[in-house]
Amino acid sequence: MLGPVILAASRSDRMRRLISAAPVTKQVVDRFIPGEDVDDIVPVVRDLADNGLELTMDVVGEDITNPAQAAAARDAYLELVDRLKPLELGTRAEMSVKLSMFGQALEGGHELALSNVRPVVEAAAEIGTTVTLDAEDHTTLDSMFAIHEELRKDFPQTGCVIQAYLFRTEADARRLAESGSRVRLVKGAYKEPASVAYQDKHEIDRAYVRILRTLMEGTGYPMIGSHDPRLIAIGQELAHQAGRKLDEYEFQMLYGIRTDEHLRLAAEGHRMRVYTAYGTDWYGYFMRRLAEKPANLRFFARSMLTK
Ligand code: FAD
Repeated sequence: MLGPVILAASRSDRMRRLISAAPVTKQVVDRFIPGEDVDDIVPVVRDLADNGLELTMDVVGEDITNPAQAAAARDAYLELVDRLKPLELGTRAEMSVKLSMFGQALEGGHELALSNVRPVVEAAAEIGTTVTLDAEDHTTLDSMFAIHEELRKDFPQTGCVIQAYLFRTEADARRLAESGSRVRLVKGAYKEPASVAYQDKHEIDRAYVRILRTLMEGTGYPMIGSHDPRLIAIGQELAHQAGRKLDEYEFQMLYGIRTDEHLRLAAEGHRMRVYTAYGTDWYGYFMRRLAEKPANLRFFARSMLTK
């Protein structure tokens, strides 16, 4: 029951101000977001890579209000690519982007987001890596998929995310699996109405398995974005049934969540990519992590009370 309340708070400016200003917030935030700028994050990248893990990097931010902020977001990613270059990690360190941060919700936002994301995809390709477009709330997805298709004409490795909780996703998965795309499948992290999304956890899990089967049987590259032990085991089984080798799919998890499992899967020879977010505009990202697990909220509340 708490999840939807926290997700509603994630869109509230008043809550944003209150929570961002609380002195203990930072300690809890650090568990999920290991740095505020690119100088903090380069050692984290090195450390994860040294442990046999791969990365997808997210400069946190969303819901911007003017084109200058969108350009600043693009520049932050370009700086990140610059800093990754000497590490020579290639596709072991890719980028994840939210198109809302690149201006998608502003007037003329579709074209603006495309014009901001393209230079990031080009810069990534120059250092031998790629970009994945995150999935945000359902109203943004037609634009996201159109931008994905456009980018893939020049950069076929550009990936995208699909969310198992949405009714539309089985059809999206069939289309993407046939086009040979890189696709990250997640359960979905936004508050969506019953008119477009399953609300029941078990129904979402069943949809996840159906969609993952479609991706595994297709010609693309499935990326299993989940911490759920059952889905991870089913993912391995579906990959095996589809005759995929270990380098023909991958697992992805969020930084700070089930870290032992990251290392276990990597040690077993799986490609294991850690979604690593950093930056100062962490509020929306952090609140979605609280919503996913009520125990996080209890931990957060306890640290507020004991300070
Ligand atoms: P759950 O059933 O939620 O979790 C399974 C177990 O994992 C839990 O029992 C718990 O032990 C652990 N766990 C899960 N979440 C947390 C947490 N926050 N804190 C502590 N423990 C936790 N969603 C989108 O809508 N769009 C995206 O683009 C997107 N990208 C993602 C990228 C990656 C790599 C991952 C892993 C997730 C992404 N998500 C995205 C979030 C996703 O939609 C889910 O909200 C999130 O992954 C939780 O679902 P789960 O599959 O881990 O299963």
